[in-house]
Amino acid sequence: MVFSYSYGLGDASPPIAGVGRAQSAAAQAQDEVRALENRLERMKLVTRALWEIVRDHTPITEAMLEAKVKQIDLRDGKADGRDGARISKCQKCGRTIQRGQDTCQYCGHVQGFESVFDWIR
Ligand SMILES: [Zn+2]
Repeated sequence: MVFSYSYGLGDASPPIAGVGRAQSAAAQAQDEVRALENRLERMKLVTRALWEIVRDHTPITEAMLEAKVKQIDLRDGKADGRDGARISKCQKCGRTIQRGQDTCQYCGHVQGFESVFDWIR
């Protein structure tokens, strides 16, 4: 190891400011990841509840759900477990933009969405 550095929680500030900033940024990133994980778990819970209501009250089966998931996954030509391509074309100028982006960064055109799911990407 070329360089090793640590300081206690009670220290007012680290002797090397860059180390303190890096540790702060790392802690903030960990907090953001935890918050995203919590949101994902809540979304999974709601999705499962919705699915079980549909399954229990309609003729739709688990096999039908799996087939639809595979069909949607393959819409971009790749079986990658993702809902479509991450990039898209601006509806006005045709330049490449991030999918789900509200406004084209090149021409300013406000994109229309084909589905509400495009809005939540
Ligand atoms: Zn554009």
